This record gives sequence, C-alpha cells and structure tokens, in this order.
Amino acid sequence: MKHRNFKMVDYVIYGRGSFNQLEDIIAPHRKNGGPMIFLVDHFFESTNGQEHSLVSRIPRTGNDEIIFVDVTHEPKTKYVDYLANQLKEKYQLVSGIIGIGGGSTLDLAKAVSLMMNNPGSSADYQGWDLVKYPGVYKAGIPTLSGTGAEVSRTTVLTGPTRKLGMNSDFTPFDQIVLDPELTANAPINQRFYTGMDCYIHCIESLRGTFINEFSRSYGEKALELCRKVFVEKDHWDEESDDQLMMASYAGGMSIAYSQVGVAHAVSYGLSYLLGTKHGIGNCIVMNHIGEYYPEGVAEFKRMVEKNNIEIPAGICSELSEYEFNKMIDVSMGMKPLWENALGKDWEKIMTREKLRELYGRL
Ligand code: NAD
Ligand code: ZN
Repeated sequence: MKHRNFKMVDYVIYGRGSFNQLEDIIAPHRKNGGPMIFLVDHFFESTNGQEHSLVSRIPRTGNDEIIFVDVTHEPKTKYVDYLANQLKEKYQLVSGIIGIGGGSTLDLAKAVSLMMNNPGSSADYQGWDLVKYPGVYKAGIPTLSGTGAEVSRTTVLTGPTRKLGMNSDFTPFDQIVLDPELTANAPINQRFYTGMDCYIHCIESLRGTFINEFSRSYGEKALELCRKVFVEKDHWDEESDDQLMMASYAGGMSIAYSQVGVAHAVSYGLSYLLGTKHGIGNCIVMNHIGEYYPEGVAEFKRMVEKNNIEIPAGICSELSEYEFNKMIDVSMGMKPLWENALGKDWEKIMTREKLRELYGRL
C-alpha cells in the first residue's frame, strides 16, 4: 500500500479578533510594491459603510486592491481566468491573493493565486497534480464554516467539460485566519447548509472504506462539534460560531486523508446540470440515502427538523432522460468517492439504473 504524503496549510491563526492581526501576518510577504489583492465575497459590499464593517477593517496599503467577487454561482474556470488575466494585465507583480468569504471565495482565491504563475486556462489544470508552478502567496479567511475549503488541497471549479478541482500540492493556502467573529450573523439557512457540508464530510469519511485512525480522529471531533451546534443547543450563540469553525477545519482534515462518499458523488451531478450549490445539494441528497448511511441520515433529518430548515424537494421532477443521463455520467465519474463509500466492487452495487432511481426521487 502506498501512503499519501499530503501538503498542509503552512500557518494557522485562530481566535476571535485574530483578523485584526492580518497586516502583521501579510506584511513580510509584500514584495517591491506589488499589491496585495483582497478577493472579498460580494456579500460584504452590502455591509460596506456600516460601522466596523469587514471591508473597513481590511489592512489596505499602497496600491492594494479590493475586488468583490460574485459568488451567486459556484466558481467557474472562466471567472478564475478573467480575474487572473485582469490582474496580470494591470500589475507586473502581485504580492499575494487574500480570499475573504465562504467556500466559493476561498476556492477562487486559491485558483487565482495559482493562475498568476501558470500559463493557459485554469481548465487545463482541473484534475490531479497537473498544476506546474506554485502560485503567488495566498491566504484564506473564511466567513462561513463547513466546507473545509480552508484546509483542502483542491479548489472546486466548473469548467467547459467538467466540475473538478485543481488538486495539487500547490493548492493549499500559505496562511489561514480562523476568526469565528466573521461568521456571526450569516443567514440561518446558509449557516445550516454549509454546516451540514461538514456534518456530511464526517459521516462519509467515518463510514467509508478508506477510513484510518488519522481521519477518524479528526472526523469524530468534527462530528461531536456539529452535534453540539445543531443537536444539543436550542439557540445560536458565539460558542456555536467557535465550534462550527473548528468542526469545519477538523472535518476538512478528516477527508484530506480519506474521501467523501455518496452524498457528494450524487450532488456533483445536480450541481453540474442544475447549478445546485454544494451545501444545499448535499442536503437534498442526504434526505434520500438512508440505505447507505442509516444513522447519519436519521440524525440529519432530526437536525433539519430541530433547526426548522426547509430542504427543497422535487428538483428533478421535470428532467428529461438525456439530462438524467448527464447527471449519472458526472456522478459515476467520481470513482474514488464511490469506492470509498461502497468498496472496490462499487460498480456492482451502484448501477446506472439504481442511480437513475435515486435522482428521480430528489
Ligand atoms: P458560498 O461561499 O457559496 O457562499 C454562500 C452565500 O453566503 C453567498 O451568497 C455568500 O455571499 C454568502 N456569505 C458568505 N459569508 C457570509 C456571511 N458571513 N454572512 C452572510 N452571508 C455570507 O458558500 P459555502 O457553502 O461556504 O461554499 C460553497 C462552495 O465551496 C462551493 O463552491 C463548493 O464547491 C466549495 N467547496 C470547496 C471545497 C474545497 O475543498 N475546496 C470543499 C467543499 C465545498
Ligand atoms: Zn463538501
């Protein structure tokens, strides 16, 4: 058996108010007048101008630039290329890319950093270990907790032919800033969908065939934290933000050394065809896969009820057979996910007919 030697994030700062140390952290990485580029989730454009707004706290100096990124849709390779090309044209040298936002913004920041130093289109690098050169300095600052994008070695992008990440040792952030204050006041539904991404990472990792003690240690801790937040408490408080941020980190560490499973493999198909977002897509699927994760799905349903969340239903009811086949193709292509979930002989268990039936129920 060949063990994976995986690259992690270089520096981590955690704690309420740690965002205030951002300038100290990035100052040593400022190069010969090359600006720091802050890619900021467009949500924070709307709060700009308010007292102590996030934008007013960004340590902008010299020719640093803030770019509000549109995350209405999940990141596309075209958008990454557009942002990177624009920066390359404008500046000879960029000191770094700082992503501030949810998982979509973090992925954009990672991808744009890589594309500052790699030729061609980001679509050329969708896959495993195709990126040729390290990107420019990159830091990630989550404002939603759950995806684990802050620790992962991938950046999920929808390209012309597929939805697949730029998986590489150059992809993880050089620095992450985990400040739970930044996640306060996110809308309840959004917080739930993204938080459930973490819960589902744990279930898929812990119930998968790739499980090992490394992944189990992080997965169990993350699961415990998710339960504190979504099962035990009756209301959201500061501690919930602290706990969910660490759950996201630990959940990401868990899947880094194992893999996700059925919910993700099926939700990738939804996302490719219908543009369903990652968190909500996983929830839609999770509602229907008790056969594979009986306890996890039962607990998931209890959390949905307790937190008063609406999970959409019937999203595939109007699709044609051609469209179902497209989703099945995308989902079946996620081989490592199926193998983790169902074992080496997964193709005997999850047939196209079975998957068609499952999609039909969503
Ligand atoms: P998101 O980044 O797509 O953001 C969802 C919405 O929340 C957006 O409208 C955004 O503007 C808003 N938002 C963000 N922070 C907010 C705040 N503090 N207050 C109010 N609104 C806020 O959501 P997400 O669930 O964090 O990320 C999903 C994305 O992450 C998908 O694109 C998915 O592919 C990606 N992802 C990546 C990895 C990875 O390992 N790279 C893993 C899982 C998911
Ligand atoms: Zn996920």
